[in-house]
Amino acid sequence: MLYISTRGGAEPLPYCDALLEGLATDGGLAVPQEMPSVSPETLERWRALTYPQLATEVLALFATDIERDDLARMTEAAYAPFPDAVVPLRRIGGGITLVGLSEGPTLAFKDLAMQFLGQVVEHALARTGSVLNVLGATSGDTGSAAEYALRGKERIAVFMLSPQGRMSPFQRAQMFSLDEPNIHNIAIEGVFDDCQNLVKELAGDLEVKRSLHLGAVNSINLARITAQVVYYFWAWLRATDADGHAEVSITVPSGNFGNILSGFYAREMGLPIRRLVLAANENNVLDEFFRTGIYRPRSAAQTLQTSSPSMDISKASNLERFIFELVGRDPERVVAAWKDLETQGFADFSADLARFTAEFGIVSGTSTHADRLATIREVHEEAGEIIDPHTADGVTVARQYIEPGEAMLVLETAKPEKFAETIHEAIGIELTYSDELQAMLDAPQHVVDLPDDAAALTAFIRERALS
Ligand SMILES: *Cc1c(COP(=O)(O)O)cnc(C)c1O
Repeated sequence: MLYISTRGGAEPLPYCDALLEGLATDGGLAVPQEMPSVSPETLERWRALTYPQLATEVLALFATDIERDDLARMTEAAYAPFPDAVVPLRRIGGGITLVGLSEGPTLAFKDLAMQFLGQVVEHALARTGSVLNVLGATSGDTGSAAEYALRGKERIAVFMLSPQGRMSPFQRAQMFSLDEPNIHNIAIEGVFDDCQNLVKELAGDLEVKRSLHLGAVNSINLARITAQVVYYFWAWLRATDADGHAEVSITVPSGNFGNILSGFYAREMGLPIRRLVLAANENNVLDEFFRTGIYRPRSAAQTLQTSSPSMDISKASNLERFIFELVGRDPERVVAAWKDLETQGFADFSADLARFTAEFGIVSGTSTHADRLATIREVHEEAGEIIDPHTADGVTVARQYIEPGEAMLVLETAKPEKFAETIHEAIGIELTYSDELQAMLDAPQHVVDLPDDAAALTAFIRERALS
């Protein structure tokens, strides 16, 4: 299996090469040359597999340049830090079942993909004898998931920028309590956009990028997208097993369109998901797109700070991969649409609007702060469960679409402990932390303050980077 660019101007690459590239050389995103397909018989055979075994089967369809034994070893290692089920399902009433994606080390769904990414990147680097210095910017969940997945890796160092004083105390503790020689936390004097601009500036300077072996593990990363496909198969198999339901729909709290893109890929591969329900918060660029066919990204200044902060995204990088399928895999139409974005600020796919649901099964909705609080309260009253604000956005929108006789799965994208203030606001309960979490919150923190200055950052990295 080779990976081509959504913009058509890059050499097809095998999985291990595409996964270290980030953006393709023509500015597009890597997509499989042909979507793998899974027959109903194969799907039934997969029912008996453990999560790591299923991950091996699914990922083998994408990573054809990796030996199956190696892949099996990697998926075992990747999911060892999780509880036995890895992704447990639990019902909360009203036909809704939560898919527990947040059982990993940093209590958010990003662990599932990052844990595999850590394994596969190390494998790819070992094959070529190279090293990677990961440079990233985070406002919370991504940075910690990356650091926990990459700590202690021999060929990888991490330089993670975060905005000084802008993360929650929990998020800060989660990242900064790590004490590992290959992990470097850097607090930048500025906001998240300043951090992201620094990353772009360094990675955009080819000399700096090459000499420092810089790379990214952001949400467009191919290893992450493919690793996320696994839990859609897993959840569908568990839901149909337990309920005998033939119809399964899945709701996904969304920001960058990374998570739900993997669900879309699973469906394109033949997994009979009835509908994929996209849940947005007040930053509802994607809901607008799926309702009108117009994609109109918003600026950082137009992006609201909400109580589901990991979905505060107004430019969904992974949407380009969906558009590529929507336009019949015609790279020229993708290039033309992205030119429209630059010249007029939006791209118009309204002529194809009917196909969004009819052909691709995607519907969408928006959840607000008030919805989030009400849903957290209702789920707590009805099911005795405390759900996090992002998952609550999912449940809110799922309820708008659930139909009789259908199993509606909602992806639980984080644990409530990460967002204790909103939980308190919703139900008046102060969450208590496990001993392990409390120890993390109390541990000494390791972080370096730097000004918002590319030269200072480059010098800092040059001194500590692997080479
Ligand atoms: C990252 C994140 C999301 C959004 O996922 P995308 O892949 O960006 O759509 C939703 N919820 C939580 C808790 C997250 O960390």
